[in-house]
Amino acid sequence: MLLRNADMLVTMDASRREIAGGGVFIRDGVIEAVGSSEALPQEADEVIDLAGHVLMPGLINTHHHMYQSLTRAVPAAQDAELFDWLSALYPIWAGLTPEMIRVSTLTAMAELILSGCTTSSDHLYIYPNGCRLDDSIEAARQIGMRFTASRGSMSVGRSRGGLPPDRVVEDEEAILRDTRRLIETYHDATRYSMLHVAVAPCSPFSVSRDLMRESAVLARSYGVRLHTHLAENVKDVSYSREQFGMTPAEYAESLGWTGADVWHAHCVQLDTAGIALFARTGTGVAHCPCSNMRLASGIAPIPAMHAAGVPVGLGVDGCASNDGAHMLGEARQAMLLARVGFGPAAMSARQALELATLGGARVLGRDDIGALAPGMSADCVAFRLDDVSLAGGAVHDPVAALVFGTPPRVQLSVINGKAVVRDGELQTVELPAVLRQHDVLARQLAAG
Ligand SMILES: [Zn+2]
Repeated sequence: MLLRNADMLVTMDASRREIAGGGVFIRDGVIEAVGSSEALPQEADEVIDLAGHVLMPGLINTHHHMYQSLTRAVPAAQDAELFDWLSALYPIWAGLTPEMIRVSTLTAMAELILSGCTTSSDHLYIYPNGCRLDDSIEAARQIGMRFTASRGSMSVGRSRGGLPPDRVVEDEEAILRDTRRLIETYHDATRYSMLHVAVAPCSPFSVSRDLMRESAVLARSYGVRLHTHLAENVKDVSYSREQFGMTPAEYAESLGWTGADVWHAHCVQLDTAGIALFARTGTGVAHCPCSNMRLASGIAPIPAMHAAGVPVGLGVDGCASNDGAHMLGEARQAMLLARVGFGPAAMSARQALELATLGGARVLGRDDIGALAPGMSADCVAFRLDDVSLAGGAVHDPVAALVFGTPPRVQLSVINGKAVVRDGELQTVELPAVLRQHDVLARQLAAG
């Protein structure tokens, strides 16, 4: 496949080249050549002309709960902070079914793909009524998205001092057994893998220290990654101090939850010592600015993390705490929120794009995505420049304009060398039918 004549090609390669009139030559799902269109092979099975477009690496989402698209904008949870928001939603989520997981995951992935995302992780931590992570994996295969499926879990219910109701938590032995099954069945560690499995107990206030420790040992025995929520807001920090006598960063360290194979969502309230610890150990952060604003959790110290050398990627977070899962939009909000917190020079448009590409790749432990260069996965997206939101901006700096402006939908998305979106339309699923089914299931779930 040959993609050529893009007005601007953003490579995110080692020298961050941006090439006017650039293109990419792809063979068998892998990028073979990148450069000005004249310098590329002129023939291919399929040639797509991208005059009037910006072409860039597919964006990478490092934190999500896709099932939550069924419970967007639920009135009781519209205006609450994290703990009250969760308490309002847990009883509804207790009614989830395998079909709901599959259809909501398809819906969330469709939304992400149309926003320029080509790789996503998902953190599924609630398994009532026979739900399994297999239901999410089936959706990823159907739609053609590169996927890190995180086997979440909750084991400490209210009767043991946790936040979730007892009826939505699982037995710890059963969690570990199912996690092993998933890794052995699905985890593909090869370069260009379309599917990773990660181990992901939900949060300090819903799992035990034993489960955290045993999960880390299990993950490391298979060489898979570890993921959880950490230091999301001040109540989360208080819970950690009261229950464990430690800051969230100390708690993570005490359980073996630091290292280059670990990434934590949020870290809004990570303190200076925590930032230094994460930098020293290469522990990653999934920064979720929209969710942090929606739940009034605070402003994550991303510039300080960046300066210290902490790996940071972006996450849209679950659809119920960020009702607009747009990856380019998340990059925009990361830039804007950093400026609210730390001044106008705190983050540039290109730095935001870097978080959404290279940053995400590092956090998910991958060196085969996040940049367009020979030997990288053929994951690339193109945005049209004649959208009204880019009028003017496309003339002065089309790359920055994509981040500063109202986030447009993607025109072309190639994932693993296959065109999953053409002319702005998803090719792999019949989206209107999926959305109709999703509406029926969302009503059914709310009705209980
Ligand atoms: Zn989350």
